[in-house]
Amino acid sequence: MTDRTLPMPLTQASGDERMFPSLTAAQIRRIAAHGHARPIRRGEVLVEAGKRVVPFFVVLTGQVEIVRPSGTTEELVAVHGAGQFSGEVNMLSGRPALLRARVSEAGEVIELDREHLLALVQTDSEIGELIMRAFIIRRVELIAHGLGDVVVLGSNHCSGTLRVKEFLTRNGHPYSYVDLDRDADVQDFLDRFHVSAADVPVVICRGEVVLRSPSNQQIADFLGFNDAIDQTQIRDVVIVGAGPAGLAAAVYAASEGLDVLVLETNAPGGQAGSSSKIENYLGFPTGISGQALAGRAYTQAQKFGAQVIIAKGAKRLVCERKPYVIEIDGGLRVPARAVIIATGAAYQKPSLENLSLFEGAGVYYGATFMEAQLCRGEDVVVVGGGNSAGQAAVYLAQTAKRVHMLVRSSGLAQSMSRYLIRRIEENPVIVLRTQTELTALEGTSHLERVRWRNRQTAATEAHEIRHVFIMAGAAPSTRWLDGCVGLDAKGFIKTGADLLQDDLAAAHWPLARAPHLLETSLPGVFAVGDVRAGNIKRVASAVGEGSIAISLVHRALHE
Ligand SMILES: Cc1cc2nc3c(=O)[nH]c(=O)nc-3n(C[C@H](O)[C@H](O)[C@H](O)COP(=O)(O)OP(=O)(O)OC[C@H]3O[C@@H](n4cnc5c(N)ncnc54)[C@H](O)[C@@H]3O)c2cc1C
Repeated sequence: MTDRTLPMPLTQASGDERMFPSLTAAQIRRIAAHGHARPIRRGEVLVEAGKRVVPFFVVLTGQVEIVRPSGTTEELVAVHGAGQFSGEVNMLSGRPALLRARVSEAGEVIELDREHLLALVQTDSEIGELIMRAFIIRRVELIAHGLGDVVVLGSNHCSGTLRVKEFLTRNGHPYSYVDLDRDADVQDFLDRFHVSAADVPVVICRGEVVLRSPSNQQIADFLGFNDAIDQTQIRDVVIVGAGPAGLAAAVYAASEGLDVLVLETNAPGGQAGSSSKIENYLGFPTGISGQALAGRAYTQAQKFGAQVIIAKGAKRLVCERKPYVIEIDGGLRVPARAVIIATGAAYQKPSLENLSLFEGAGVYYGATFMEAQLCRGEDVVVVGGGNSAGQAAVYLAQTAKRVHMLVRSSGLAQSMSRYLIRRIEENPVIVLRTQTELTALEGTSHLERVRWRNRQTAATEAHEIRHVFIMAGAAPSTRWLDGCVGLDAKGFIKTGADLLQDDLAAAHWPLARAPHLLETSLPGVFAVGDVRAGNIKRVASAVGEGSIAISLVHRALHE
């Protein structure tokens, strides 16, 4: 089992002043203005694990322990003394508490509810920075130690297991993992929770509720990832997609006082979230993983009050009249004065027999730490010659025995960054196979063998390779729009000056003015990031467009 229990509480073990800072008297006075002081008595539970209402506490005197309840026992995670404060990022998102806070020494605290805490971090930059930093580092530590309220029971040969682990990881939710094929105490788990190997993946929440092979939406609902959506409230702007473009739009919209709702089918971060390391995004000279960037952006959007809904995608845009309505998975309908489409792109799937059989069981569409662990010391195939394929090849080469990079054309894409081309050429672990395409995937429950063909010589080779990373040819996620906005021949959304008179006539453009930059053929509906025709497929341009779109939303709202 990969569950790591703590040798000592994090407060003691880390000694990290950033994670557990001590507030000055002046800072405490400023916080007190947003809440109220009250006595605490020994044994009192201030926060219960699983409860959605999670107040924020500053300890004035006495002591508060943070523990992970597990059946009838508790594991001590942290201890807050005088001048320290409780909490982690779920206080900003409004998600249920992961841990229990109990008073171990009577005294006095200042208590703030979530609304007052949000007001504090938004208005007091010094205290806001201190709290946000501590919250983020605490969540990172909880993830690193698997200290959450979830145990995933699964098998590395099962695609559902990878999906569940990926969903929790990309949503920054700590969990521990029990591997059916490897962990000695697995029978204990099966017996205790009345599940069998046929039920995997099994998600055990708070040691009580057992979800058998749950969908991502079921997991999100159970763990309380989402607040209820008020369908009667007309939002200033609904942002569809929480990749870099959608998250940037959410941060700017919420920080500028707009009432904003973000819908995301899967997890914050989009394609960038599946990147092992982004090295060309401004301000991160040593690179940053897509997961870390997404986690920070998501927390930032919530700090400003954006509502982000996870694992519920937009199914349809009702565009005949204003306000527009976005229909969501589960039959919900959200009205909006303006809409930002930031649904990005997803890799096109090659037409290979058995592809779906091996997705998550040997075939992957992202190369992060999790996938790299699965193929350590083995040969792997990366399909594609663009930037993302190059990045994956270089990353996997650190742990794989050999990386076969299959490129259908005669070389790497011209758009590939120079630094990646050099690293690929100079890395002896990477074998670049141009004019080569994957032709077959073979195996029973897990991929066991692949075949590829040289397009020039027509020679076919078979190799005992169990891991294939497909990163070629991204297609825009626009099918759900069903003719509401003008698209180019490849399905990307046309905006601004790219919309010709014919496009506008066909869309019955109703206004005297031409569409704004980033505006689609529907007034007040904008497209940003990879989903937009002509967009430069980079994190920076997605973020830039997301932020620009908000200034245009303001204009549209005043029209
Ligand atoms: C492996 C990899 C590595 C990369 N490395 C780099 C790099 O180093 N540097 C760089 O600049 N760029 C890199 N890129 C490119 C960069 O990640 C993309 O350009 C960027 O993520 C585009 O952002 P986006 O928000 O427009 O779209 P996306 O990132 O595609 O996000 C779109 C989001 O919308 C969601 N969505 C889709 N349909 C719906 C719906 N109907 N309802 C609700 N939500 C929906 C998706 O789930 C997704 O989360 C990389 C891409 C990949 C795949």
